[in-house]
Amino acid sequence: MSPIIRRGVLRLHQLASGRHILDRLDSLQKTQWLSRIELEELQRKKIISLVEYAYQHVPYYRRIFDEIGFQPGDLQNDFTLFQRIPILTKEIIRSHTEELKTTDRAHLEQLSLVTTSGSTGQPLTFWQDHEYRDCVTADIQRHLEWAGAALGQPHAYIWGASFEVSSQQALRTQLIDWEWNRFLTNAFMLSDQSMADFAQLVIKKQPNVLYGYASSLYNFARFVRQIPEMEITFQGVISSAETLLPIYREYIEETFQCKVFDRYGSKELGGIACECEAHTGLHISAENNFIEILNHGIAAEPGEAGQIIVTNLNNRGMPFIRYSIDDEGAWSRSLTCICGRGAPMLEKVEGRLVDTFWTPDGRKVWAGFAGAGYSCLSHPSIKQFQVIQESLDYLIIRVVRDGEVPQETMDQFSDVVHTVFGENMEVHWEFPDEIPVLPSGKHQYAVCKINEGITNLHMRPKVPANSSS
Ligand SMILES: [Zn+2]
Repeated sequence: MSPIIRRGVLRLHQLASGRHILDRLDSLQKTQWLSRIELEELQRKKIISLVEYAYQHVPYYRRIFDEIGFQPGDLQNDFTLFQRIPILTKEIIRSHTEELKTTDRAHLEQLSLVTTSGSTGQPLTFWQDHEYRDCVTADIQRHLEWAGAALGQPHAYIWGASFEVSSQQALRTQLIDWEWNRFLTNAFMLSDQSMADFAQLVIKKQPNVLYGYASSLYNFARFVRQIPEMEITFQGVISSAETLLPIYREYIEETFQCKVFDRYGSKELGGIACECEAHTGLHISAENNFIEILNHGIAAEPGEAGQIIVTNLNNRGMPFIRYSIDDEGAWSRSLTCICGRGAPMLEKVEGRLVDTFWTPDGRKVWAGFAGAGYSCLSHPSIKQFQVIQESLDYLIIRVVRDGEVPQETMDQFSDVVHTVFGENMEVHWEFPDEIPVLPSGKHQYAVCKINEGITNLHMRPKVPANSSS
């Protein structure tokens, strides 16, 4: 089907369903070339409008604005007052879900209730309106274009898909996939068989771009490399929803002979940032999300890690204003990008706060500690791994084996652990048959069972009987 006809089909479907994805995409394709100052002005206007809406229609915001004496209209004269709005946390969303929902009838009719499993295992439930969802889809399409798949060009997903869908829903999904020219394999249940089927489909349909979780892309790349006669290439691969470890990036790029575009986003906010063709950082989706990075409550300098705070600029159904997504990141030190896009860049996303490890003497260690540590674990005998910090001085490395893991590999990894955490960190190896994925279908490669502030966890767990040290 020609791109013009496909665009026509998409346009017709959206007219019939009252949606505006193509309009939002057209807009994003233009605004990405705005200067930083122009983008900041666009964000300011959207924030002022959103905050006024929230005060008028969302009981939670009306209550807290009144409590702190915050007048949305004052933002017109002094935008720094925006920082007076208290941070919205996941706990607040859980305990005030209904109070955070709009009372505006025009929006109520189009709300969808969404639940995420959450990387901590605690679900989060929220409401999203049509405008939000249209902007999210348009933003994904914009990033697909950066990676090599223009509107209507074939692309493939390894992504979490729901099992329990009615035949009507399944038909609708098939129709939408056909319209967008995409296909998917379910990351919930990646097996040799499902990857073989997916590989055949990829060879047949020749998608420009593959989009998936970092670990799923890595698993698929490993699978492809195991089959000598199989060669699969893409124009680009987009890795999203999980921290992209350097070893994953290198392996995937080598296997599929293309660049990996790291994309950062979440179900409650959509796309937050994505690498462009220059791969020097992740451009913020500034038209959709306003980002602050705070270090102990103060705006962080470029290169300085801090807490990522996001205001979504589109979802009036349940506004996320100054929301703490529980991730850390840093602004890029580069003020401009050679691609010419004006949106500021994140230097790197340091991973979920819950993935932060701790040294016995109380220092914080990023869960992706030292790419070198994990590069030992790229040995062919290691199909999958997970690192679990059980206590301040006890780390468990769980490995799904494909043959014997050489003692040398294990020793190398232990050396890295001791360099990073100190000699008092004990390393224990386990070799389960599989590592269960999270309910979302994602693989959590790093799990820390210690929370910040809890320092009395020196008790070691009992060593399970079915493991080896
Ligand atoms: Zn760029």
